[in-house]
Amino acid sequence: MRNPSISYILLSIGIASFASAEVNDAKLSDMSNTQDWLGYGRTHFEQRFSPLTDIHVGNVAKLGVDWYVDLPDTAGLAATPLVADGIMYFITSRNIVHAVDATDGSPRWTYDPEVAKHSGQRMRASFLHGNRGVALWHDQVIFATVDGRLIALSSENGELQWSTQTTDPEQALYISGAPKVFKDKVLIGNGGTENGPGRGYVTAYHAATGKQAWRFFIVPGNPALGFENEAMQMAAKTWTGEWWKYGGGGNAWHGFTYDPEFDAVYIGTGNGAPWNQKIRSPGGGDNLFLCSIVALDPDTGAYKWHYQTTPGETWDYNSNMDIVLADLTIAGQPKKVILHAPKNGFFYVIDRATGQLISAEPFAEVNWASKIDLKTGRPVEVPGSRYEDHSFQITPGPLGGHNWPPMSFNPNLGLVFIPTIHQRFHFDDSLTDLDNWQSPDWQAPSPTEGMGVAFTNESDTDNVSGSLQAWDPVAQKQVWSVPLPIDWNPGTLATAGNLVFQGRADGDLVAYDARTGEILWKEHLGLGIAAPPITYRIDATQYVALLVGWGSIYAALGEQQAYDLGWAYGLQMRRLVAFSLKGDQALPAQPKPAPPKIAEAPFIEVNDVIALKGQDVYGQCSICHGNTAISGGLAPDLRASPIVLSADAFAEVVRNGALRSRGMPSYANLSDEHLEMLRHFIRQQAELSLESSDAGQ
Ligand code: CA
Repeated sequence: MRNPSISYILLSIGIASFASAEVNDAKLSDMSNTQDWLGYGRTHFEQRFSPLTDIHVGNVAKLGVDWYVDLPDTAGLAATPLVADGIMYFITSRNIVHAVDATDGSPRWTYDPEVAKHSGQRMRASFLHGNRGVALWHDQVIFATVDGRLIALSSENGELQWSTQTTDPEQALYISGAPKVFKDKVLIGNGGTENGPGRGYVTAYHAATGKQAWRFFIVPGNPALGFENEAMQMAAKTWTGEWWKYGGGGNAWHGFTYDPEFDAVYIGTGNGAPWNQKIRSPGGGDNLFLCSIVALDPDTGAYKWHYQTTPGETWDYNSNMDIVLADLTIAGQPKKVILHAPKNGFFYVIDRATGQLISAEPFAEVNWASKIDLKTGRPVEVPGSRYEDHSFQITPGPLGGHNWPPMSFNPNLGLVFIPTIHQRFHFDDSLTDLDNWQSPDWQAPSPTEGMGVAFTNESDTDNVSGSLQAWDPVAQKQVWSVPLPIDWNPGTLATAGNLVFQGRADGDLVAYDARTGEILWKEHLGLGIAAPPITYRIDATQYVALLVGWGSIYAALGEQQAYDLGWAYGLQMRRLVAFSLKGDQALPAQPKPAPPKIAEAPFIEVNDVIALKGQDVYGQCSICHGNTAISGGLAPDLRASPIVLSADAFAEVVRNGALRSRGMPSYANLSDEHLEMLRHFIRQQAELSLESSDAGQ
């Protein structure tokens, strides 16, 4: 026993045993426990704030590497590691779960769920981007796989306890999120309705057995089949047309919070499927419960209340971002609130007692709504923003003003630290056949797009595209902001040492003075960072630890930026790195890539017509290999690939799955003609970049 005197400040339930790694609601609600990091946002309050002060503004400059673990694999690392009773648990490439000693990184066990065997085509969806974390409950480690399994392991030895399939394998759904545990249950959702029709839902399972406890659908199904509950009946009144044909969406893929003070589960819900409301619900309507925080009864899954951030959404403005619990003093009154900064660019403070909106102000550039009306709780939309005239340039873009990289909240300073994205996109549905639009078939050789509207990035990259900002949620005002190198940067950690830690896309881990934004310390870790840091204290040493592994969706979306930063597939070592004030280790240097040797291929004469057809087929490749085959470091740079040069080798890999165990899905339904189209498109991209590099000399 490392700490026999744990105090339970809020709850006193379930304290039957002091056995090691015995995680329960009391421990997850204990803000004063600083030896562990037991849940995704540290405690049930999801603040990512630690009361630890060993490391503070005055000594953080002495921080050094205490220990590290090499993780030789290639996918993105996005997860929050958890620490319980001296052991650290984390999930990495191909959903492999690791347990190591949290004081020196020495290995305890690993568990490989063999997603390549189970996942098949599912790997197409988000396989390489990274899983966001595991959950701990009693003596179990629980996590979800990209192919939709929820799995419980013994935290002692990593042995399988149970495994259950939470999604229909025929649907385009996948899981990248961390499960949420509370009251002997484990909750999980899913994502993926951009790739095919789907109806969002969350499911709670009994943590001891994996048996289903309850399921809550987020949008109503076909009324002719009857509604599951009164909430669905209410929601159906806010939809028009035949939305159920498209599934409706609303997937909860992130943003689950259990509130021990109000005994409620809050889920952040997703955007519509398709994005374009003119197709999904042509007569308008709010389309409940899209883009909302929905409060549910944790025991039964029954609806308690909801607050919808974006009624009738039509821009991918989901509300899946983290849901943080806080105590604020507002107009002299103590209030228990939710803090929420969804994609749509407004920062919301919501009363946890009633679900009523207290305040909302823009934390990023917003041009689709002039304000949120506090009387109605609704946005005041700017005419034209629904591209009702078919075309509109909108900010934030579909990545949002804030995405899943979590914010943190320092209750001592009353400040929230938000990784912020600044983007401007052009939406246009003038070429979309709104009346005859079909949901995409994710298993088709060349799937159509699932949005129902064309969108292009028109951000001004000369201006700041990413920033870290401190936000005062009472005054609803920015306190400070620092520019970041590119749009997409990972989540933050706040500590009572008045520090904010954040990794960055350019490979720096940075400590800021939480009061001013001044940079007090930074260390270059040799590879872009996509995961948030944690902190914990063992044997009088405070550690700060994080996974270092460029990934997440931006690796592919921002492939040129990732390439320019130097992140090349398989070149840099992925790592778990822990820092302390006594740390004095040097990380082995990471190689810097030379520009890729774009393969010369005089024997493939690119035919632009075939290449254009190939671009359609290639759409499903772009989620990992990027739109122009550069791949942003997450997957091989196809411009340099010798495999593309051989029709036989290409068929072996792409159609027959020769590299499936390394993360390359198989596309068994592609014909020789499809493969030829793909090769022409990829070679066209290679030759275009050869030309542009010649032009640059
Ligand atoms: Ca979405």
